[in-house]
Amino acid sequence: MIKLKGVSKFYDQFAAVEALDLEVQDGEIMGIIGHNGAGKTTTLKMIAGLIEPTSGMIEIMGRSLAKDSIAIKKSLGFLPEESPLYESMNVSEYLLFFSELYGLPKRIALDRIEAILDSLNLEERQKLTGELSKGMKRKVAIARALLHDPALLILDEPNSGLDPLTSFFIIDYLKKLKGRGKTILLSAHNLFHVEYICDRIAIMKQGKLLICDTMKELVKRLGKREYQVIFRADQELDYEKKDDNYSLKTADIGEIAAVLKQISDRNWTLVDLSMRQSALEEIYINLMTDATYV
Ligand code: ATP
Repeated sequence: MIKLKGVSKFYDQFAAVEALDLEVQDGEIMGIIGHNGAGKTTTLKMIAGLIEPTSGMIEIMGRSLAKDSIAIKKSLGFLPEESPLYESMNVSEYLLFFSELYGLPKRIALDRIEAILDSLNLEERQKLTGELSKGMKRKVAIARALLHDPALLILDEPNSGLDPLTSFFIIDYLKKLKGRGKTILLSAHNLFHVEYICDRIAIMKQGKLLICDTMKELVKRLGKREYQVIFRADQELDYEKKDDNYSLKTADIGEIAAVLKQISDRNWTLVDLSMRQSALEEIYINLMTDATYV
């Protein structure tokens, strides 16, 4: 769906994005994460055709963005990091105005606006956009990006500044859009949301892509998976003990299997068995502070 090859963006001598290779597959949600100034917005804006790369190639749906930007933009919805609305229009008027810009016939536009606002639980259709709360404004901006029913959505920090519930609503909403066949590329700082929603995660640092993979592979390469078994035994053992419970914590599943066998053979009591896996936050911090990466 999206293919970037050797994409760079320079401002004078400064590389906001450098030699970026990235592919987003049809129907996936990819999340770009990275520190402030890592180059996320610059990358998304280049893909949305809002700024031109200094060098490199961007292909969207098999077409060159440099040559076919008008056709590509018809299938692409972009949500900027900050999207000021026309504050003197009410929600319906504002969305209808944008539908006209997209060339949608009025009847189709009205039906579509209703459906999108319904799906976003946005009932304040007659309220002026200037009077909306931050969360409602973000929903209207998302609705605007969806008006022309694009196959591809580029979302710059879709839930920044939103309360946890609205934030989660939007994340869940994006998951539903994926279920309806949309391809989504987003940037975010909330790593819990990224881990929850994204099929693959691209991590950027100082304009460069450090790694891009599924959460499972990121854990395998950069994280930890640890198991813990808690049990009671009728003899003294050389394991950590708290109250009457012994505890073994290890990354070696073979060790856990051996203890489980002992528990079963000797009729001891298994109290708890759990697994802890590195969250994206831990992987991200390790990567950002690891001098071997960039
Ligand atoms: P944040 O998480 O804070 O939104 P980001 O990862 O989206 O950051 P970008 O906005 O892409 O980062 O910026 C990357 C770098 O490029 C920053 O150092 C920024 O100052 C620089 N930059 C972006 N736009 C311009 C511009 N028009 N002129 C000069 N430098 C720019």
